[in-house]
Amino acid sequence: MANLVKSIIYNIYGVVQGVGFRPFVHRIALAHRITGKVINRGSFVEVVAQGSDEDLQNFRNALAAEAPERANIVDIKEQVVELEVFEEFSILESQADKGAIFIPPDIATCHQCRKELFDPADRRYLHSFINCTACGPRLTILEALPYDRERTSMKHFPMCQACEKEYYSLASRRYDAQPVCCNDCGPEVYILGSNLRGGTAITECRKLLMQGKIAAIKGIGGFHLACDGRNIEAVNRLRELKHRPRKPFAVMMNNVDTVRKECILSEKALSWLDGCEKPILLLAKKSDCTLPDILAPGNPTLGVMLPYAPLQMLLFDYPDGVEFTDTLVMTSGNVSGAPICRTEEDAWQEISSFCDIILSHNRDIRLRADDSVMRLYNNEPYMIRRSRGFAPLPIKVDLPLKGEVLAIGGELKNAFCIAKDQLFYIAPHIGDMEDVRSNEALKDSVKLFSELLECKVDRTISDMHPGYHTTGIAGELSSNVLKIQHHYAHILSCMAENNYLEPVIGVAMDGTGYGSDGTIWGGEILLASPDKFERFTHIAPFPQAGGDAASREGWRIAVGLLEKYLPEQAGKYAEKLDLCSSVEYKMLSAMIKNNINTVVSTSVGRLFDGVSALLGIARNSTFEGDAAMSLEFAAQRWYEANKDDLPGIDSSFAEKGIMATDELFIRLANERIKGVDVGFLAYSFHKLLADMITASCVQARSLSNVNVCALSGGSFQNMLLLDLCREKLLKNGFRVLLHKLVPANDGGISLGQALYGVYNIKQF
Ligand code: ZN
Ligand code: ZN
Ligand code: FE
Repeated sequence: MANLVKSIIYNIYGVVQGVGFRPFVHRIALAHRITGKVINRGSFVEVVAQGSDEDLQNFRNALAAEAPERANIVDIKEQVVELEVFEEFSILESQADKGAIFIPPDIATCHQCRKELFDPADRRYLHSFINCTACGPRLTILEALPYDRERTSMKHFPMCQACEKEYYSLASRRYDAQPVCCNDCGPEVYILGSNLRGGTAITECRKLLMQGKIAAIKGIGGFHLACDGRNIEAVNRLRELKHRPRKPFAVMMNNVDTVRKECILSEKALSWLDGCEKPILLLAKKSDCTLPDILAPGNPTLGVMLPYAPLQMLLFDYPDGVEFTDTLVMTSGNVSGAPICRTEEDAWQEISSFCDIILSHNRDIRLRADDSVMRLYNNEPYMIRRSRGFAPLPIKVDLPLKGEVLAIGGELKNAFCIAKDQLFYIAPHIGDMEDVRSNEALKDSVKLFSELLECKVDRTISDMHPGYHTTGIAGELSSNVLKIQHHYAHILSCMAENNYLEPVIGVAMDGTGYGSDGTIWGGEILLASPDKFERFTHIAPFPQAGGDAASREGWRIAVGLLEKYLPEQAGKYAEKLDLCSSVEYKMLSAMIKNNINTVVSTSVGRLFDGVSALLGIARNSTFEGDAAMSLEFAAQRWYEANKDDLPGIDSSFAEKGIMATDELFIRLANERIKGVDVGFLAYSFHKLLADMITASCVQARSLSNVNVCALSGGSFQNMLLLDLCREKLLKNGFRVLLHKLVPANDGGISLGQALYGVYNIKQF
């Protein structure tokens, strides 16, 4: 019988594939005289280690402490066993196994690869697909797990001898890097419909961009539409073609120096901007910002990102003598609301009429991933769109949950979520479901994603709204559907992200959601736990007349609010404030009185639209949140100008513990008629709303003994409202849970839906 010795088996969970983890284990094993093996099990990495007790201890410490930068260890399980003696330490090939699954997100091109990209002596000089174990595409090229080249879209590009040598050499930065390739063996860029390829194609694209043309450019998770961010005519043309008159465009800047010149960049912000995810980061414009205002009209912030793929770096810095801009508009290549274009066919069909040139390449994108969008709040990330670089890293909840569910997400900014026991995998952003292409994209993504996660889709969970496309799709995918109220899902999402599952006072300040009573909800204070909720209170209801038009035309809301709260003066006020013509007023008034195409609403998003119209700031919205954002900026501007000498705001009526938004609106209307400063009124509205929210939470606490508030819903993307609420709640002794890496908007509700589904798995 063979000689058996003490051995330790470590099962390491987390993002440990495709990030150089196994060579790292090999290196520290050698350093600590450990023999044994490391093997990729698909869902985890298994290490078998033999050595002296002291060496084993040091090896174990190094495993956790020295792991590669890109690795993300969630858990290490240890087991002591007796095994045959290993003479050396070896790396074994992948063997798929079932269990918790970690799909690596895409990683921005690292600094070392960038250096090589522009080094004429390097073999990958100017290679548009350079990558290494620390960087490159992952999720977006993946077909199946475990993550190995033959299960990615790199399978069509067999490695040349030189690349193969690096791939198999433990000493190389490219050991086991699945997408590794070079100028000899890798994919190629080209201009669609022409025979320009490689560098010539890049130069042509650069020239056209500098002539003010618009280019569609294939990236990591889809196509972008790009133009020179300093060319006002080009930006305006792109706005016209995309039917996007005001919604802010994100820009990509050539380097950190340009960002510093135009925007305020803290150290913390830099660490995110230049980190391995490279999201779009909302940064405050400097007062002497030289970029045209039309990039983000009237907006004090600008969405900025740095080049994160080699092709983008080459676009800015290709050594061809073309004088190039330092700032490109880089907006998602899609029809407004539709998913981002993934294939060349998509690009031809959908966006070729928006652009003058399509710069493409022949590495397939398997799964779409838009750019993630975030900002910082109190030095912490505050996510707006969670996608490339973050999806599909799971959120873990520390409860012994069991079961698998698919949460289909919301109707706008859809991102679905698959839950497996304690792990919640939120998929990349898809889009708005009114567009039929988004419906198809959602179904396709669910299929690929559930295969990757080895999840049967036999339990789905959806919103209660009977008219949502997502509700229908959830039913198509499975006959086992559980429904959940929209704002309750928002609150559960915030709880799950904070790993806090005790009862909370849920403050949902949101656009539109279908309420349990069939009316439209949105400004809700809920008493919520993972198994149930109660509607504690809500803002004062008002009529929302005109169906879909009401969400674009805030003046309709303003007139509805006047009709409801100031019926005597409504007509006079509407005329005096120029809210609408007298014909429009009569029509709307009749609709409301006769209850035609009118719903009862407690939507805070619509209240913001209505107040924005009442104050003469924005009568309409050209995109969701447009009028509300203008109101926020007006309030913010007023506050900045007056913060050293704030006039008193009478808040006595706001301290009563009810959400008396009716009284608040009446006051704003009367003062506006009297000619009180609009900035002051805009700020007062935010302040008094925050005071009322806090007073309601205090009352909820006295009845429930719950001292924790969870803040969620799209209106909490309003930084002034968020800040005023948080401050006041903290002052009143509450613990306040906020979102961080999951959006407060509808992009985050699938997490709350999924938590509800797994927690209440017996209800299916
Ligand atoms: Zn790299
Ligand atoms: Zn090669
Ligand atoms: Fe919502």
